[in-house]
Amino acid sequence: MEESREQRIGSALSGESAFRTRQAIEAIYSPFFRSWNEVTPLPKIVRDRLSESVPWNMLSVVIILPSASGDAWKALLETGDGNRIESVLMRNSRGQFTVCVSTQVGCAMNCAFCATGKLGLERNLSQDEIVDQVRALREFVSDSGLTGEITNIVLMGMGEPLANYEEVRGALRSFIGPMGIGTTRITVSTVGLLSGLERLISDHEWPPVRIAISLHAADEKTRAGIMPTTASGFFDGLVDWSQRYMDAFPEKRRHLTLEYLLLSDINDTEEDARKLVSLTRRIGKVRVNLIPYNVTDSGLVGSSGNAVHRFRDRLKAGGVTVTIRKSQGGDIAAACGQLAGKAD
Ligand code: SAH
Repeated sequence: MEESREQRIGSALSGESAFRTRQAIEAIYSPFFRSWNEVTPLPKIVRDRLSESVPWNMLSVVIILPSASGDAWKALLETGDGNRIESVLMRNSRGQFTVCVSTQVGCAMNCAFCATGKLGLERNLSQDEIVDQVRALREFVSDSGLTGEITNIVLMGMGEPLANYEEVRGALRSFIGPMGIGTTRITVSTVGLLSGLERLISDHEWPPVRIAISLHAADEKTRAGIMPTTASGFFDGLVDWSQRYMDAFPEKRRHLTLEYLLLSDINDTEEDARKLVSLTRRIGKVRVNLIPYNVTDSGLVGSSGNAVHRFRDRLKAGGVTVTIRKSQGGDIAAACGQLAGKAD
């Protein structure tokens, strides 16, 4: 694991009181300061020491592109070692913001429909690099005079969060602690790595955030055809895990979501809907979020609007709680599955 910002601050201020360390940590996560030098409640000598050894920011902003609709922005950010990652800022209907953050540079999961998967995995992001995507966009919101606050975070950008478990967990703890984001306003989206899912059930340091599983098919053969990480026995494993997850975290507000991308002739037939209904019955309390396909160069074709609605109605008729995701940022290649570290 990389040394975290909190640890670096601790070592830089090792001779100082615990109060100073706490002050410094609060300051770096507060929206009001932009450098150690501005943190005037700290004595100059302390600020200088921090400036020397704790970078204020792990990422620099390359460009932030607005979508035509005016409700989404794609940020292209650069890490210290020159890797480019993307984060997306979205304004919801209540005038608050959601940030979609990346957890890795590239991704090793290689899902057929996703542009990030085509890049392969370059490296994991550190917890500070994950957190600093939100800090960068928070500065952007305030500098652009946009009204509203960042209240929600989704880990649905580039990368597979559970393949970078410790750094993701560290970032979640910073979002919830010093940044004050509510646990039920944070969603970790995963390709469904059962080992990672298993681990978080019994991990006392894993915060009570929401989990969304990218399902995209309700039978093994179809799923393995578009998601090569699908292991044999995946669905039985998932049902078994879900039951233990819900026993461990019974509160309703922590519901599980299944994400289901609709691809024409691949997973959108009546038969597919039936299989999904029966899977949700085996799982129990779960919601389904249908995702219209965002175009990438995968060669796959998304289901038509009609097919999406028909599929939704079939699930509803089967008693499933189902919503259709509204896509934002498609014109700036910032929608789900389109993030590939490019400015155009
Ligand atoms: N690796 C994680 C998070 C990143 S992807 C995961 O698999 O969940 C975030 C969501 O976008 C996932 O549900 C993913 O399957 C979906 N997605 C990927 N490519 C897409 C595309 N072209 N159109 C719509 N959604 C896509």
